[in-house]
Amino acid sequence: MATAKKTTKKRATTARKRVVKKAAAKKSPARTEDTLDVYNAKRDFTKTAEPAGRAKKTGKQLQFVIQKHAASHLHFDFRLELDGVMKSWAVPKGPSYDPTVKRLAMQVEDHPIEYNEFEGTIPKGQYGGGTVMIWDRGTYEAESGDGVDAVRDGYKRGDLKITMHGERMQGSWVLVRTRRDPKGRAQWLLIKHRDHLAMAGADIVAAVQTSVVSGRTMEEIAKGDRVWNSNRR
Ligand code: MN
Repeated sequence: MATAKKTTKKRATTARKRVVKKAAAKKSPARTEDTLDVYNAKRDFTKTAEPAGRAKKTGKQLQFVIQKHAASHLHFDFRLELDGVMKSWAVPKGPSYDPTVKRLAMQVEDHPIEYNEFEGTIPKGQYGGGTVMIWDRGTYEAESGDGVDAVRDGYKRGDLKITMHGERMQGSWVLVRTRRDPKGRAQWLLIKHRDHLAMAGADIVAAVQTSVVSGRTMEEIAKGDRVWNSNRR
């Protein structure tokens, strides 16, 4: 009797494993520990023009984007490509070239790489409702020059040293994980390294207030309907 019970249990477990395996096989192979499920669950894609999320591989160079986002609170979304998704942080005050300035960076859900193209308005009442500007974009790499493995390792350790090749963001920065808030979300600090581009007192987010892609201000983006034909009228 006991043996029969055991066999049934074993069969059920094997069947369950098969189902799990099948589900995993359906997902993109680029997915690793994190998925875009949280990102997708928060959004109604019939109402927002933001892209639905799927992990994917891009070129050899890792991409970054910084989006200025006038939601309930103005902040900068700092996103770094890693393993097919954009690791994302909300930086309330944005980046600084002053190496003595430590900017709080609250980690948020992974975003799809397609999100790097998004500039426009998220409808009011939807998640993150408000205006989004592509403030800067480009490529980045591990400061050590040791490639994506060094980026992945730094990210996991919570000590991520990177060199950025953007229009507004150039040179090296570090993201240091400090603690988790009561909801379990990781808090990091974004700090400029003391390299030849570091500058005491520099306020890049005050100095540069236009889209790196369209040249528009937040007000102009808010007025426009579709990003890609705003300059053709
Ligand atoms: Mn945001």
